[in-house]
Amino acid sequence: MSNALIIGAGLGGLSTSIHLRLAGFDVTVLEQNSQAGGRANRLTMNGFTFDAGPSLLNYPWVFEELFALAGRNLYDYLELIEVEPGIRFYWPDGESLQLSSRFDLLRSELERFDPGVGPRLARWLDRAGRNYRLSFERLVISNTDSPLKWLGALKLNELAGLGLEKPLYRQLSTTFHSRRICQAMGSYAMYLGGSPFDLPGLFEILPFGEINYGLWLPRGGIYALVEAMVDLASDLGVEFRTNCRVEQVTQDGVRAAGVLLADGERLAAEATVSNCDLPYTDVNLLPEGLAKSTGVRRAGRLAMTPGVMTFYWGLNREIQGLGHHSIFLPDNYRQSFNDLMTGSGISSNPPFYTSVASASDPQLAPAGKSTLFVLVPTPVLSRLDRTDFLAESERLKQLVFSRLRGHGCNISAGDIEVERVLTPRDWRNSFSLYDGSAFGAAHSLFMLGPWRPANRNPHLPGMFYVGASTTPGTGMPLVTLGGRMTAERVVEYVR
Ligand SMILES: Cc1cc2nc3c(=O)[nH]c(=O)nc-3n(C[C@H](O)[C@H](O)[C@H](O)COP(=O)(O)OP(=O)(O)OC[C@H]3O[C@@H](n4cnc5c(N)ncnc54)[C@H](O)[C@@H]3O)c2cc1C
Repeated sequence: MSNALIIGAGLGGLSTSIHLRLAGFDVTVLEQNSQAGGRANRLTMNGFTFDAGPSLLNYPWVFEELFALAGRNLYDYLELIEVEPGIRFYWPDGESLQLSSRFDLLRSELERFDPGVGPRLARWLDRAGRNYRLSFERLVISNTDSPLKWLGALKLNELAGLGLEKPLYRQLSTTFHSRRICQAMGSYAMYLGGSPFDLPGLFEILPFGEINYGLWLPRGGIYALVEAMVDLASDLGVEFRTNCRVEQVTQDGVRAAGVLLADGERLAAEATVSNCDLPYTDVNLLPEGLAKSTGVRRAGRLAMTPGVMTFYWGLNREIQGLGHHSIFLPDNYRQSFNDLMTGSGISSNPPFYTSVASASDPQLAPAGKSTLFVLVPTPVLSRLDRTDFLAESERLKQLVFSRLRGHGCNISAGDIEVERVLTPRDWRNSFSLYDGSAFGAAHSLFMLGPWRPANRNPHLPGMFYVGASTTPGTGMPLVTLGGRMTAERVVEYVR
C-alpha cells in the first residue's frame, strides 16, 4: 500500500488525509500541538468555550460533499445551527446595515440605503450567483498549472462577466448606489489580503456566497467541525500523532523521502504533504539546500494577508444589543485598508469584528453568561517591529468598548470574568504562521489559480502542500476543497 505523511492537522491536512485514505493510502498525520484543528482551534476557560480562529462557517455543501464521498452523512457527525440574520455592519455615526439570507429582509434593508435597489439586487444575485458557480465548478478546484488552460475552462463571454478587470468596490458600485452597501460588501477584502479598491471584482462572490448559502454554527462551536473531520478520518483508518513536531522534510536523491521529527525519529513516505503554512514550510522545513536556494526567495516575494489581535472575553452576563456576527467599520474606510496593507504599527482606528457565539449556542457559556470574541486585523509582524502588544491590547480593548457603547451595547472591564488575548506573535508561534499572517498568502488576481504557489513543489518530487497559502486559497471551505486537489496530485504522482 502507498503511504503518505501529512505535516499538520489543520482543516486542509484533515481533508487531504480523508481523500488519500479513500484513494487507498496508508496515511499518518503529524501535529505539533496537542490537538488538531490548527487555526480552527478551541479555547476553554472556566466553563466558557471559544473558537480560537474561524467563527463564520459558510458553504456547508463543501463539508456535505466530503462526508458523502466517504459514504457518510455529515449530519450524523455534526449539527449545524443557522445564524440568521447574518452579519450586521456598524459605522461610527450610529448607522448599521443588516445582511440576511431572506430575500425580502435583505431587499427592505438595502432599500433603506439605496431606494429602488430591488430589481438591481435581483440582477446582482443572478450575476454573482452565476460567477460563484462558474468559479467553483471550473476554476477553484482545478489543478491546472497553465494560465491559458485555466482561463480556457470558461467561454469568452463567461470570462468577460467575471469582473476580473475591475476592483471589487467599483464592481459593487455598478449595482449598489449606496456607499454603505459597497463598504459593507467590500470589507470582505480585508481577509483576502487586499483592499476592495485593488482586489478583483470577482470577489463579490464572497458576500453573495454568504447571503445565498447562509452562515452556520456547528453546535459546540466551529471546533465541532474539526472533531467531525477527525472522527471521519479516524473511522477511515487515518493515524494521528499529536505533540509530534516535524523538524525537516528529508530527501533521497532528488525526491522527498519523508520527515525527521524533533525527537530524532525518521519516518519514510512515498508522498510528504505539508499543511504547515507554505512559506513557513519553504523556509523552515524543506531540506536545507532547497530551502536556501528556492524556499527563502519564494517566501520573501509572497504578499501575505494581515495578522490579527484576538480577544476572548467570558462575560458575567448576557449581552444586550449585539448579535452573533458584527463588523465595525471606521470613518476612514479607504485609509484603514492602506494602514493594514502598507502601514507600520496598528492603525489608530482599525475596523474590527465581533462574535457572540453563545447567542446562537448557549452551551458555549455558563447559564446567564456570554462569550464575546473580538478580532482586530493588524499589519503582518515584520511591520510591527516596534509595537508594544501589551499597551496595544489595552488601547484596542478601550476602543472596542467605546465603539460598542456608541451603538447601545455597554460592556466594561468589570463585566469580563475570564479573558485571553492572542497577539500576531502568539498566532505565529502557536501554528507556525509565516510573518504572523492570519489568513495565509494574499489573493490578488495574480495570486489565484495557476499563479498561486502550487500544491506541489516543482523542485522536489514527492513534496506537496495544502492549506491557506497554496491553491485554492484561504478559509475553511477552500482549504477543505484544497485537500481534494492535493490528494489528486499525490495520486497522480504515486500511480
Ligand atoms: C483569527 C482567524 C479568524 C478566521 N476566521 C475565519 C472565518 O470566520 N471563516 C473561515 O472560513 N476562515 C477563517 N479563518 C481562516 C481559516 O482559519 C484558515 O484558512 C484555515 O483554518 C487554515 O487551515 P490550514 O489547512 O491552512 O491549516 P492551519 O490551520 O494553518 O493548520 C496547520 C497545522 O500545522 C501544524 N504544524 C505547523 N508546523 C508544524 C510542524 N513543524 N510539525 C507538525 N505540525 C505542524 C500547526 O500546528 C497547525 O495545527 C480565520 C483565521 C484566523 C487566524
